[in-house]
Amino acid sequence: MGTSRTGKTMASIQIASFSPTVSGKEVVVKLDDIYPKIKTHLTHSDPFQLLIATILSAQSTDVQVNKVTPKLFQRFPDAKSMSIARISDLERLVRSTGFYHVKARRIREISKQIMVRFEGKVPDNMEALLSLKGVGRKTANIVLSAGYGKIEGIAVDTHVFRLSRRIGLTAQKTPEKIEADLMKITPKDLWPRLSTLLIFHGRQICSARSPKCLQCVLNSKCHYFKNLKRMNPAG
Ligand code: SF4
Repeated sequence: MGTSRTGKTMASIQIASFSPTVSGKEVVVKLDDIYPKIKTHLTHSDPFQLLIATILSAQSTDVQVNKVTPKLFQRFPDAKSMSIARISDLERLVRSTGFYHVKARRIREISKQIMVRFEGKVPDNMEALLSLKGVGRKTANIVLSAGYGKIEGIAVDTHVFRLSRRIGLTAQKTPEKIEADLMKITPKDLWPRLSTLLIFHGRQICSARSPKCLQCVLNSKCHYFKNLKRMNPAG
């Protein structure tokens, strides 16, 4: 890695001088135009069920999670019942979402913590949510915004991570730092929408392996696409 005369690495200089290619609001406006009805589709009837569904959605899809949660919540509708569930029952019920050994243990452990420390109620603030072992900022942001109508941050999943960097909204390399950058360039009331739209756009157009840049409404602003054009002007 290169080092300047002042001792700063080239990478740190690039991050320090980084300026976004487009604002978060512009991204929301453009994507809202093509996906006006898109919203998070994890079926739930209260913040506890949303929390559990969000944990199950890791490495899975909303559609797959929504197939398993009706039976899961019929049997274990709240933290009290889930905290004393048999692991084998939970594993059987969540199996098709993948990583079911880990997920079954995680949702029971979180239910126990909610019972012991929060009298059975999912906390409604970031600090308390993050104090639950197994809950990170992405999950906490989803629970706060979709479960309690509170906006405290931006949920950064694998799609938000990838698209934010490709488009040129950030040059950071961790979800926490990317979230902080997105919060700076997006009005607060649009934070949940930005995340939802980027996730959907990542699934539809800007996939990890083969982004469909020529079909993308963001291509005139996109850092990745501009670089592609520069390398292949005739393309
Ligand atoms: S132009 Fe390409 S890389 Fe940029 S956001 Fe669209 S699909 Fe993704």
